[in-house]
Amino acid sequence: MVYPGGVTALAGVSLDIAAGEMVAVVGPSGSGKSTLLTIAGTLDRPTSGTVRIAGQDIATLGDRHLSALRAREIGFVFQQFHLADGLSAVDNIATGLLYAGVPRRHRRERAMHALARVGLAHRAGHRPRQLSGGERQRVAIARALVNRPSLVLADEPTGALDTATGQAVLRLLQRLNEEGTTIVLITHDRDIAATLPRQIEIRDGRLVRDGATGAGR
Ligand code: ADP
Repeated sequence: MVYPGGVTALAGVSLDIAAGEMVAVVGPSGSGKSTLLTIAGTLDRPTSGTVRIAGQDIATLGDRHLSALRAREIGFVFQQFHLADGLSAVDNIATGLLYAGVPRRHRRERAMHALARVGLAHRAGHRPRQLSGGERQRVAIARALVNRPSLVLADEPTGALDTATGQAVLRLLQRLNEEGTTIVLITHDRDIAATLPRQIEIRDGRLVRDGATGAGR
């Protein structure tokens, strides 16, 4: 991936992630981890190379079809949560269904179901600023899950949380993985990376390691 201005952020990276895996992506700051997630998440098209989601080469899809594929298959979680301050927890999640063509009356019901999956049904009416950091991240995870994606891509989801809260968010992601969602997680935290079954290491835009960690599942 070459960015405008000539930065080669990723080169020669070849990866297969199978349905049901849980993978950690590690590497120093600026090594290309977020770029990898952005490309795997089809938010950006690579300068060269091929991206396949659920077997489909995204180069064959126009932007509308690609957006539809992304909405159906992929959920995103970010370090800074990216929740709208003016909306309640449940409405933050329901907006994730606006573009999925879900009728209004069903959006709330599905958002409530997603909130229940992350253990926050009792916080549905709270605004983000009335929630703790860990709760905000759980709302963001619920939003990522509301379309029932097969793949969740998380960029430093524990990076803004204290260790104990981060561990709880990690356990939640592990439970979702056990329930069948494929998860790819960028982390700076070596302890977290070591608890996931597979670890990918990126340095200077190159894949330098890809292997099993031996972590039990
Ligand atoms: P990481 O997530 O590992 O910190 P990134 O993928 O964010 O790394 O960045 C990899 C490299 O690409 C860095 O040198 C960064 O400055 C550059 N980069 C990232 N995004 C852009 C962009 N939109 N435009 C230009 N350069 C970028």
